[in-house]
Amino acid sequence: MLLRSLEMQGFKSFPDKTELNFGKGITAVVGPNGSGKSNISDAVRWVLGETSTKSLRGSKMEDVIFGGTSKRKALGFAQVMLTLDNSDGTLKDHDEIVTVTRRYYRSGESEYKIDGESVRRKDIHELFMDTGLGSDGYSMVGQGKIDSIISAKNEDRRELFEEAAGISRFRHKRKDAERR
Ligand code: ATP
Ligand code: MG
Repeated sequence: MLLRSLEMQGFKSFPDKTELNFGKGITAVVGPNGSGKSNISDAVRWVLGETSTKSLRGSKMEDVIFGGTSKRKALGFAQVMLTLDNSDGTLKDHDEIVTVTRRYYRSGESEYKIDGESVRRKDIHELFMDTGLGSDGYSMVGQGKIDSIISAKNEDRRELFEEAAGISRFRHKRKDAERR
């Protein structure tokens, strides 16, 4: 599975619709301090269902919405759409191109979509489970992540290995069943 493109609209420092296309190979984002590089990785984290405002470098969820500048008014919602190349079939029962979308309004209302169809956050979580890409997957390695893996408790480290081995959905299903 590969990232194809990322479209942000009203997300943090991107008030206008901004699309980034990722070619084959490595993509590097360069730019001066404060130009929005980390906001791009925040957008990927966020569209995958991140709920921790701390991981998104904010204090409340509203902080992901463009907050205005001296020249531009604040916006009412943030939207991010991530397009994935699934031609290797990592996401079973899905087409070669898969899109996930998240929208968040200042009112606190959230919307999630998979291939344009409204879904719950849980469905996004389940879609990426065992692929390593989810909001708690190991594909996004942030600053300090390696340190936290090394110093993690055994149970937490085990979760990482379970995700890599592709078996975390079984634990998830069992937990779900036990809760019912
Ligand atoms: P560095 O090289 O220092 O890591 P960076 O390129 O990663 O910088 P970011 O942290 O992505 O920069 O971007 C920070 C900028 O984004 C700041 O100027 C901040 O004001 C702006 N920003 C963050 N949230 C919002 C928001 N909700 N509305 C408008 N601007 C925002
Ligand atoms: Mg940065």
